[in-house]
Amino acid sequence: MSASSNRLQGRHAVITGGGRGIGAAIARVLAEQGARITLMGRTRATLEDEAVLLRALTEVHCETTDVADPAAVESAFAGAANALGPVGILINNAGQAASAPFTRTDLALWNQMLAVNLTGTYLGIRAALPGMLDLGWGRIVNIASTASLRGYAYVSAYCAAKHAVLGLTRSLALELAKKPVTVNAVCPGYTETDIVRDTLANIQAKTGRTAAEAEAELVKHNPQGRLVQPAEVANAVLWLCQPGSEAVTGQAISVSGGETM
Ligand code: NDP
Repeated sequence: MSASSNRLQGRHAVITGGGRGIGAAIARVLAEQGARITLMGRTRATLEDEAVLLRALTEVHCETTDVADPAAVESAFAGAANALGPVGILINNAGQAASAPFTRTDLALWNQMLAVNLTGTYLGIRAALPGMLDLGWGRIVNIASTASLRGYAYVSAYCAAKHAVLGLTRSLALELAKKPVTVNAVCPGYTETDIVRDTLANIQAKTGRTAAEAEAELVKHNPQGRLVQPAEVANAVLWLCQPGSEAVTGQAISVSGGETM
């Protein structure tokens, strides 16, 4: 497919956490296909920097919001619909991955992981779904993780939240199966973004390993022996959003070089 086309012309896509990392890569591929884009996140400057780049391709709106804050999410989605019309595509991408051994996973860390990764996804869907049903068309893609499909040591709260995102995805897909709205999860393996850069720094600080040794520790999970690139995750999301994917719902699509299968 050409880099720039119009397979999503007329659609309005909201990408939470769209200012950087995987979210920014998703915003770019959707914009390249003609979708109007709303970027959401907590940091206005990051959103605006990304919006400047995307405005060469499409209309872009930014909403500063914390996805874990119910009132702020309602207001951000109302602002998005007001600016660019009804939301047809929702990409629940905002996330955080704090690590700690279980014995040091206190209630605050536990609640934070569930609030951002799981409740944030629920709140986004709650805000966007009625508009999709009115519109008669919708695509919901939850950026879950291989941590939705298997366990990893030292991230039990994150892993629990991401498993729950997949449960939500599957249940909602069944509930909406007779409606023109699909609900899927995309599950990246370790992907080269700030989350992984922080994880690498953490491994080095806690174990005294070199940068190369820390990276080897992460990529050993991936049979391809490398980090996934954000654009590879974005391409899977695009496929779920464009015409022809209507029969695909309730799926967990692993973008991980074969780590899970
Ligand atoms: P980044 O840290 O690069 O980006 C995270 C994004 O989420 C940022 O835009 C950030 O913006 C936003 N965000 C974080 N917390 C909140 C919040 N409370 N409210 C609103 N926005 C928030 O990470 P990635 O791009 O790597 O991660 C994107 C998604 O992919 C996450 O859900 C992550 O769990 C998932 N994932 C990532 C993997 C990886 O290896 N990178 C592997 C598997 C899954 P801001 O800080 O400005 O709010």
